[in-house]
Amino acid sequence: MAIEHPEVDVVTMGAGFTAAITAQQLTAEGLDVVSLEKGGAKWTWPDFAHNHDELRFTARGELLHELEKESWTWRPDEGAPALPMRQYGAFHPGNNMGGAATHWSAVMWRFLPSDYDWLTHHLERYGPSALPEGHSNQDWPVSYDDLEPFFAQFEIDTGMSGQTGNLNGQILEGGNPFEGPRSTTYPLPPLAATRAGSRFAEAAERLGLKPFRQPSSILSQGYTDMTGNPRSGCLYCGYCTRYGCEVDAKLSPQTTFLPLAFDTGRYEIRTHCYVTRIEVDNTGRATGLTYLGRDGREHFQPARIVLVSGYTMSNVRLLMLSRSAAHPDGIGNARGQLGRNATHQILQLPSVGMFEGERFNTYMGNTATTHAVYEYVGDNFDHAGLGFLGGAQIFPYAGERLPIGNMEGIPHAATAGETNAAGDPREWGQAFKDRMRNWDSFIPLAIQGDSLAYHRNRFDLDPNFTDFLGRPLLRITFDWTDNERRLHAFLAARCAEIMDEMGPTERNDQPEIEDYNIARYQTTHIQGGCIAGNDPADSVTNRYGQVWDAPNVFVTGAALFPQNPGANPTATVTAWMYLALDQMKREYLRRPGELMA
Ligand code: SF4
Repeated sequence: MAIEHPEVDVVTMGAGFTAAITAQQLTAEGLDVVSLEKGGAKWTWPDFAHNHDELRFTARGELLHELEKESWTWRPDEGAPALPMRQYGAFHPGNNMGGAATHWSAVMWRFLPSDYDWLTHHLERYGPSALPEGHSNQDWPVSYDDLEPFFAQFEIDTGMSGQTGNLNGQILEGGNPFEGPRSTTYPLPPLAATRAGSRFAEAAERLGLKPFRQPSSILSQGYTDMTGNPRSGCLYCGYCTRYGCEVDAKLSPQTTFLPLAFDTGRYEIRTHCYVTRIEVDNTGRATGLTYLGRDGREHFQPARIVLVSGYTMSNVRLLMLSRSAAHPDGIGNARGQLGRNATHQILQLPSVGMFEGERFNTYMGNTATTHAVYEYVGDNFDHAGLGFLGGAQIFPYAGERLPIGNMEGIPHAATAGETNAAGDPREWGQAFKDRMRNWDSFIPLAIQGDSLAYHRNRFDLDPNFTDFLGRPLLRITFDWTDNERRLHAFLAARCAEIMDEMGPTERNDQPEIEDYNIARYQTTHIQGGCIAGNDPADSVTNRYGQVWDAPNVFVTGAALFPQNPGANPTATVTAWMYLALDQMKREYLRRPGELMA
């Protein structure tokens, strides 16, 4: 018999970014919110004081989801056996209060306007014959213009660094000339540039490209955010991705949304609580969340609104596992839409330059202390006759190169690519050691690109492997298609051109995309499976993340993305959360239980 708690207004799965934003905004409206977090409570200070322990955070992944409790299986296609991930790994979900937004790299891109009406845009420009074979891409239910005020508000609320490129349609020197029109400038100037970034930018400029500084939720200067507390500018310590920031320069829910929610007295986080199921009544309406408490007993938290706000794949799996008479195939799956359009953003290192005798101090900085070029992103270039759609940004992947953390586990894609370009040693041994002696003389060029959606790529429940409670793991069926292979070949050639212009003593290229494999880091940017749309026939939720067939269940995060553009998803995740909450406050709270228009 589950231990039943008093009913609250909102219960959230996890206490990550979207749960924290929701808690802050809805407690301010007088609602009571409880978050059930599978990990522990960690604050920026003192938990991350003197945090430069590479074995603890990078090698052993202290802030990462515990694979021994719940993993994922993967197969490249339906005919292959699916096997579980037993060590990290292609992606890095979080496992603590704040979620992955504690150990993230804080790179914050707005997607291009044409990323949102993807299908309409590409059909109009290229016609139906240009669409990739077997694709399942569709327009988003929100546009860039819908999200713009919320992007702007989030940037002001939390602080963001960058160089504005398009202010109300006016192109500004030094910024990204391809970005959608912004209503405001970045609150802070861009982060300092690295030597490698500057070398890249000078070469790109000579080739006629327009390099600019990456935008970031890392503060370049001191900033007083929505809490009213001043936060420090970045120290460029190098211990950023996989680590918590010890000086609050990197945005996390702990620095902003969570303290404000706690201040209301209406918010509670229960840590070490593992959500197992969304309960429903006989009409299919959610009644709350069942979870395994830290006492090892089953609990039930009743709530009027259930927020499915974990990592992409956790959200999809929870909906699939929540079967009942009202939802025999899982919540949101009445029309078989749950699990489709699984995407995983491309991150590859197609060209690596060796600059004999030079040092770039790549142990310093963070992921955003670099430049990028956007000429080859999305549909910023003419795809006629190229045989593929989509594109990628190009940037030097040369910061936070930690001496122990990055050498541990050669499978880490960044490490392998940085030091071992095509044909170089990938195993321990003398050849690898010789290469590593020059580890600070390499600059790899990375591409981060579109992951389009295909009918073949999806999530479902694995029939063979289970979690520590005996429940099916989520199975990923995913592989690249010819579209991604051609995209990579095109971008690899552009990377080689830029690398040549940078003047390396040696250039190693990888023209072909590496086979997809969840054993190597790819990015943590997995999207889809619970996509939002304007029609229940081709989506799981409406434009506010409200499940069509269970209107008091709201899904958040990148699970809603119909397909993934070539940039980090978090800015869109947070702006979309702001938009959904704005509508929830104006409409849903007045007419609870009804679908919002
Ligand atoms: S690099 Fe900057 S933002 Fe990242 S952890 Fe260090 S001080 Fe914080």
